Amino acid sequence: MRIPIVAANWKMHKTVAEAEAYFRKLLALVPKSPGVELVVFPSATALHVAARELEGSPIAWGAQNAHPEPQGAFTGEVSVVQITDLGASYLICGHSERRHIFGEDDAFVAAKVKAALKAGLIPILCVGETLEQREGGQAWTVVERQLSAALSGIELPTPEKLVIAYEPVWAIGTGVPARPQDAQEMAAQIRNWLGDRFGELGKQVRIQYGGSVKPENAQDFLALPDIDGALVGGASLDPEKFWTIAQAALG
Ligand code: PEP
Repeated sequence: MRIPIVAANWKMHKTVAEAEAYFRKLLALVPKSPGVELVVFPSATALHVAARELEGSPIAWGAQNAHPEPQGAFTGEVSVVQITDLGASYLICGHSERRHIFGEDDAFVAAKVKAALKAGLIPILCVGETLEQREGGQAWTVVERQLSAALSGIELPTPEKLVIAYEPVWAIGTGVPARPQDAQEMAAQIRNWLGDRFGELGKQVRIQYGGSVKPENAQDFLALPDIDGALVGGASLDPEKFWTIAQAALG
């Protein structure tokens, strides 16, 4: 059974005090057994706040970014090992903002996924095409290339060790989500690909949709047969909106 997974990507938002207030509000809303897995990705400066405030709660947390090398001369970077040391469970890999703004290529994303798994983190691997690529009929080619590259040489002991987020680039932060039928079609293709790559186990990997998900449209995506959750940016900054979106996964 694929337990729904709804994740909050705060991006570069919230001070320590704001993070504290957020977690306290969210913890007051979420029951002990929510029926949906919740994961929050704060900025690096608030990871210790997540570690403290969410300990013993049903809410997991992770890092938006980490360097694949365990240590070394990488000024300004934080490693997967350091993130794990703080108590993180998840790591976002291949987010389009990291690919397009910071120039992370497929090989670097692959190194991150590998390092995350080795350190005991669960990667949320983001894949998705640009508008130009979709309009050029290249959406699946691009997504398949990203999957093949990022998961090359990876072994999957259990389906829970990996999450895929299908995030069409043109839908992220624009207020214009994908059409649900397009998201479903892509998720089904991704699931088939995972089945070919990892066998039966691969078909049980959870697939999220991400791109302008909000309380008003969450149900449209979370009710789709191959979509098991959402990766939410803007709307997740408000704990009430985030919890409302997560509840849509409960049907
Ligand atoms: C994201 O950051 O992955 C994202 C999907 O952002 P938004 O929900 O704001 O489109």
